[in-house]
Amino acid sequence: MKPRARSRSGPRTFPIAQPIGTEAARRAAWDRLSREIRRCQLCPLGRTRTQAVVYRGSLAPRIVFVGEAPGAEEDRQGIPFVGRAGQRLDRAIERLQLSTDEYGVLNVLKCHPPRNRFDPSAARTCRPYLERQLALLAPEILVPLGRSALRTLEPGAPAILLAAGYPRPGGPPRIFPLLHPAATLRSRRWAERWDRDVGALGSWLAGGSKNAYHPTV
Ligand code: SF4
Repeated sequence: MKPRARSRSGPRTFPIAQPIGTEAARRAAWDRLSREIRRCQLCPLGRTRTQAVVYRGSLAPRIVFVGEAPGAEEDRQGIPFVGRAGQRLDRAIERLQLSTDEYGVLNVLKCHPPRNRFDPSAARTCRPYLERQLALLAPEILVPLGRSALRTLEPGAPAILLAAGYPRPGGPPRIFPLLHPAATLRSRRWAERWDRDVGALGSWLAGGSKNAYHPTV
């Protein structure tokens, strides 16, 4: 079931450092980083959030799902993807048969932006936290959810509607984009596309179509 992350030439993707030190050192570094994020006031979102939303999942994940920003429910609970979009993501994770120690979920932005507007300036300020999180988690595979997450992880990537459902060249880490689950709640057509793309991710993880790149991207 586990595909091996392979080095290959291709577009530059998100840099991930080698995992540091022992498990205990990594855990301590993770806890320090999480406290730092929860106290952060580096951008204006720090003043409007209820609380920063750091992460949920394994600290040694094979796959990390990367959303754009916490929504209102995440802001209330302090946990990423706990609203309706999160339920859709959780159903997909069940369908992919990922156990709890195999995956994690986080966002590019750690604080809820008013009106759910992704703020590129705040994302630039917040980016070092994402880099440090991914350096500690060291996943084989990143699954950006939606356009902003994809462009953060791979700035030169094509539009999300072209890229979703297919593994990107490059890596490790390998990148396999999906639509943002919140978008798929608003459109039956996108919900069907989500189902198809999650199925494609499942086949890819199982090794059935590792090299099936989209012909137009
Ligand atoms: S969004 Fe990021 S940079 Fe801005 S206050 Fe929150 S944690 Fe800090």
